[in-house]
Amino acid sequence: MRVNNIPNVRTCIAPLTEDVTVETQDTFASWPKETHNTSATKADACTVDVLIVGGGPAGLEAAVQAAKQNAKVLLVDENQQLGGQLIKQTHKFFGSKQENAGTRGVTIAKELEETVQDHTGIELLLESTVIGFYEDTSSDYFTFAVSKRKGYESSIVKVQAKTVIFAVGAMENMLLFPGNDLPGVYGAGAVQTLMNVYGVKPGNHVLMVGAGNVGLIVSYQLLQAGILVDRVVEAAPIIGGYHVHAAKLRRCGVPIYTRHSIKEIIGSDHVEAAVVVRLDENWQEIPGSEKTIECDTVCLAVGLTPSTRLLSQMGVKMYTIAEAGGFVAIHDDYMQTSVPGVFVAGDNSGIEEASTAMIEGKIAGVAAAIQTGKTSTKQAKELLDIFASELASLRAGPFGEKPRIAKQKIQTFWRKNQ
Ligand SMILES: Cc1cc2nc3c(=O)[nH]c(=O)nc-3n(C[C@H](O)[C@H](O)[C@H](O)COP(=O)(O)OP(=O)(O)OC[C@H]3O[C@@H](n4cnc5c(N)ncnc54)[C@H](O)[C@@H]3O)c2cc1C
Repeated sequence: MRVNNIPNVRTCIAPLTEDVTVETQDTFASWPKETHNTSATKADACTVDVLIVGGGPAGLEAAVQAAKQNAKVLLVDENQQLGGQLIKQTHKFFGSKQENAGTRGVTIAKELEETVQDHTGIELLLESTVIGFYEDTSSDYFTFAVSKRKGYESSIVKVQAKTVIFAVGAMENMLLFPGNDLPGVYGAGAVQTLMNVYGVKPGNHVLMVGAGNVGLIVSYQLLQAGILVDRVVEAAPIIGGYHVHAAKLRRCGVPIYTRHSIKEIIGSDHVEAAVVVRLDENWQEIPGSEKTIECDTVCLAVGLTPSTRLLSQMGVKMYTIAEAGGFVAIHDDYMQTSVPGVFVAGDNSGIEEASTAMIEGKIAGVAAAIQTGKTSTKQAKELLDIFASELASLRAGPFGEKPRIAKQKIQTFWRKNQ
């Protein structure tokens, strides 16, 4: 959107102020008619051992571990609050005690945030986005530009880092169908943010698309907020999420239709209804099976894609691995990519869970600190072995099958490239 004449503002993370002018922006931005108050001329600068991009569970754990190994850490996140996806997860986590089972995502985020804030070796930069990597052959450090916001104003910070850990998470997938750009069509993450972070109802009558864990959990949270969930449609022949979540929904009278998808939205300037359709074994629409569902909100919970643009910019070797959610960086057992000193952790290294993101973060944090030479390699390596075996046991169960395959493929590509 264009906010107070400034183009390209991400209004989902920009704070609202009095008398603000917000305009829609179609395709490319045009230059502001008058000069706005972005002070990007004078860059602040800092130099660190480890730059961590992203303050979700992976980035927070990476920061703690790297700092514990005596590295000077800078943790950058674009939001006002640390925690990444966890700040909207009001449900209790599933799995074993080791996976934080029984603890709410928001509580895990709070605990990690407190640990990070108590650590003197970690500097925090919130409401700040790492916007680019700049090659500088005259230096042994990686050079990044960070856009630091204050309201709608921004300034640039130049960060030089010996090593960098990308823990930037993932982006929600969208679906192509007529009307998918109308107000009332949301990604499940946006619905969660509105309800669970800001206490705002996204609508009153919802069609949920996707019966993975995200679709099921968000449907239940919508019901808890007093919103009618008409049904869940799922293109696959089976429900992808945990059956305990599906059973809860069914007990509340919400039907789940597998082999069904959304065909189009009815409405001229907002969602008034949606047409759903049955699919055959080849995922093709069955003519005549269309059904019009009255609703004002369509929520898409159709998976995530790892965020890898900064990694691509740095020339890291990447491959498309379906089980990882798309295009991902290949990396070694210690999360180091094909560019020495560049590490990944969490959803941007393959879509998985907060539990595994945290352990990958720990591994990347220790490994990056070793790379900087700030720690005793023998002792740190023992820690790495402990974290690696925790990670293997987390992925050992039936729900770990997809990430297990994804990581095996990543390792195979890694070995081929050595
Ligand atoms: C509805 C739902 C329920 C879930 N339930 C569970 C569960 O029960 N158990 C479980 O283990 N997992 C669960 N998950 C999954 C879990 O939330 C994610 O796997 C986890 O949050 C990934 O952590 P991350 O640190 O990799 O990324 P994120 O949590 O996405 O954090 C990435 C952070 O990086 C920031 N960022 C991105 N780009 C930049 C940039 N250029 N500059 C600065 N900052 C940037 C982002 O804004 C974000 O804050 C659930 C997810 C959803 C959506």
